[in-house]
Amino acid sequence: MIDLKKINQTKDLRKELEKELGVELKHIAKFSLDVKKIKNKNCENMIGALQIPLGIAGPCLIKGSEGKIKNYYLPLATTEGALVASVSRGCKATRLSGGINCFLEDIGTTRGPVFATKNLAESFAFVSWLEKNLAILKNIAVKTSNHLKLLKQESEVVGNRVFVRFYFDTQEAMGMNMVTLATQAIVNFIKNKKKITCLSLSGNYCIDKKPAWINLIKKRGKSVWAEAVLPKKIVKKVLKTTPQEIVSIVQSKCFLGSALSGSLGFNSHFSNITLAMFLATGQDAAHAVEASLGITWAQVQEDGSLYFSCFLPSLMVGSVGGGTGLETQQEALKILGLKGKKGDARKLAQIIGAGVLAGELSLLSALASQDLARAHQKLGKGVI
Ligand code: NAP
Repeated sequence: MIDLKKINQTKDLRKELEKELGVELKHIAKFSLDVKKIKNKNCENMIGALQIPLGIAGPCLIKGSEGKIKNYYLPLATTEGALVASVSRGCKATRLSGGINCFLEDIGTTRGPVFATKNLAESFAFVSWLEKNLAILKNIAVKTSNHLKLLKQESEVVGNRVFVRFYFDTQEAMGMNMVTLATQAIVNFIKNKKKITCLSLSGNYCIDKKPAWINLIKKRGKSVWAEAVLPKKIVKKVLKTTPQEIVSIVQSKCFLGSALSGSLGFNSHFSNITLAMFLATGQDAAHAVEASLGITWAQVQEDGSLYFSCFLPSLMVGSVGGGTGLETQQEALKILGLKGKKGDARKLAQIIGAGVLAGELSLLSALASQDLARAHQKLGKGVI
């Protein structure tokens, strides 16, 4: 057995593993990452790197909540043949129709500790203390980082347990490490001042990386709304179907089918695009869980055009911190024109939202025109 504590040099550990398992890891061994930078920040016991193909979809014409309209090439890291081509087709249809409008609301990154009280009376007294003393908690939080503010808190009582959902502004970072440090400082203060113990810094009321309605209803991170209006002739020419057929699939699949299966998401494949863009741009891939939540909506307008919209309530993204600093992920951010400026995280969330709309539109069209299996046969199985 390898003693992982003793061996922490990438090369030695990989060689030891090859010897112990009797396998050759020559492809995992090839990479250009800076191991010294990574091993204390992004990955322990590193033995190499995996490669995921990176494709470009677009251009995607987006009008963001800041009012600027611009074409973006979308970097998608995936092994699913047909995905990049499909998102590109959605980009083309929306681009020829005038582009995708996006709106964004900064909700804040959440941490939800759970506290233990003696009884219900102490629980409710604590909730009211939290409400009255928010300004003090804000002062404690702000001292933990140059880029963090506590925005608000929401509490729930279950017997002698109090669950608190703290919302933080973490500027350009997704912020989970930052909010964890800030929440630790807050709970330390509460322990000293109120003698109330925090049982767990995360009591799952955050809620991080688990499917949960609260992240759709109260939202988390950044919420994005995207919409496009497509003339009937573009739906016919580019998407090979009609607005009526797309609406019918949205109703039957995204609403009826989702209700029948107890799905938390009322969409067709948000997570395909969100995960591919998360991997490309260095986001925490596990937040694809939150990003899979959301609703796709479509309607035929009076003039016969298609109104198409996607609501993504819970995007946990940043342009600073975590995996965004890795060299290849930095380059993917540069493809999007994000070079470390203020507002980049908001821009990134809206670009992902627009990419999702393009992907939803194309997949629903393929289903409407009965082309899904053929496209995957051609592009996903290597059959030409
Ligand atoms: P981070 O890499 O831990 O920290 C980002 C740092 O960037 C901040 O602390 C801040 O420094 C600095 N910074 C510089 N310019 C900034 C700007 N313009 N806006 C915001 N920050 C700026 O990143 P993070 O986003 O907090 O955390 C992401 C990592 O957390 C990911 O690796 C993810 O996998 C991991 N994660 C952790 C938990 C957890 O419970 N700890 C949960 C889920 C995910 P200052 O603070 O000094 O100002």
